[in-house]
Amino acid sequence: MKKTKRILTLLIVMFVMVVQLNFALADENQTVFDHLNYHLTDQIRFVLDGKLISFEKLPELVNGRIFVPLQTMLEAIGFHVQTNTSTQTIQATNEDTTILFTIGSNKAVVNDKEKTLDATIGGTEQTYIIPISFFSDSLGYHLVWVQESNLLLMSKQDIEEWRYGGFEAAAPYREYENLYVNGAKTSKTRYNGINYEDWRYGGFEAAVPNKEYEILYVGGKPTVKTRYNGKNHEDWRYGGFEAAPPNREYEILFVDGKATAKTRYNGKNHVGAVEWRYDGYEAVFPFKEYERKYINGVATAETRYTGNNHTSFLILQDTLIVNKTYSLPEGYNPGESSVAHSAFLVMQKDAKAAGLTIYISSGFRSYSSQASIYKRNVAAYGQSKTDTFSAKPGNSEHQTGLAFDLNTVNDAFATTKECLWIEQNCYKYGFIVRYAKEKQSITGYQYEPWHIRYLGEALATKVFQSGLCLEEYFGIAS
Ligand SMILES: [Zn+2]
Repeated sequence: MKKTKRILTLLIVMFVMVVQLNFALADENQTVFDHLNYHLTDQIRFVLDGKLISFEKLPELVNGRIFVPLQTMLEAIGFHVQTNTSTQTIQATNEDTTILFTIGSNKAVVNDKEKTLDATIGGTEQTYIIPISFFSDSLGYHLVWVQESNLLLMSKQDIEEWRYGGFEAAAPYREYENLYVNGAKTSKTRYNGINYEDWRYGGFEAAVPNKEYEILYVGGKPTVKTRYNGKNHEDWRYGGFEAAPPNREYEILFVDGKATAKTRYNGKNHVGAVEWRYDGYEAVFPFKEYERKYINGVATAETRYTGNNHTSFLILQDTLIVNKTYSLPEGYNPGESSVAHSAFLVMQKDAKAAGLTIYISSGFRSYSSQASIYKRNVAAYGQSKTDTFSAKPGNSEHQTGLAFDLNTVNDAFATTKECLWIEQNCYKYGFIVRYAKEKQSITGYQYEPWHIRYLGEALATKVFQSGLCLEEYFGIAS
């Protein structure tokens, strides 16, 4: 029992010793070079065991080698240094090491062992200089050269340092440092206590010259701090639209709130450019005129009534007037008027009672049939002669369906009793003899005793009693 207890005690003591030894070893073999200034400085800084050393003559780079003042360096690491000018030697000693240097030589003797320096000892009597590599090559020191910071680190122990490593990709963008051991980067990192600050575009002022500004973000969060980013906002503003179809709208580039000559199409055509253009008239009575809607100069399917009917012919007092001035459109095709025809039948009956025979030899004529007649007459008589007795298509009263040629359509009809009776009585039935003998210069047509025109009883009576032709009665062009 006693023996067991003794062994156990021994084991515990040994364990504690091992732990302490490990701890002590770790402590002795590593020097943390913390809080170094990694900003690039003009002159080389030398840090020994974590402490910045100042020299009477600064370390310098010569042909890619760093030289340090020999005496100051050796004294900094605990050597006693003596220079013998007569023998041109320098002796450095500490508890267990003696080093002998020869000025102008690249040899040194360390505890009776010859070492070769990678450059000769230089400098002057005031300050001899030695390549720093001597301390690593011959004395077992660790050296780290941080070129981008002009920083030289030296320690007998492993050199640990933390260098800035960047910041995390996500908010709060913690900045971290990487652990370097003897100048080699490890995978170990630590938070440096700072969150990354960045400036982000924040917009632009509302007033000219519309200065753009940035907002300071700390750890991914906006602060109230802003700064001008040196630019004034460029913006595109509506500039109007082109005068010609399709009236493309454009924008103008404004810089500093001022318009430039630069423009661009905004992808739209101006929809305000709506026009209604006259587009013709319907083919059927009353020949309503219509307009077509144009957007940006381009026709659409939409039409509307202008409120007017086509006026190449005249309607006066409900009377359709057709002569050499006022014509009918090609599409006006009403056929024979049943009202006019009924009136004729009454007249025909009364004439018969008086022992006379009247009949219609030619009534309604379409535009196209009048076109054929006119063409045939022009071919036979020439145009000027034809125009005295034959209407151009559209200008014929026969196309109204209200005019009739009676009996034999020739000059011989003028000598018949029927002709006389018609002349004196047709108004009673609503007709007039349209082209009278004494009105040829007004109507433009030769005497046509056979051609009667239905006007209705009231108007026919007034026109007959006036002794005027229809153009004179209405006071219109013939
Ligand atoms: Zn006729």
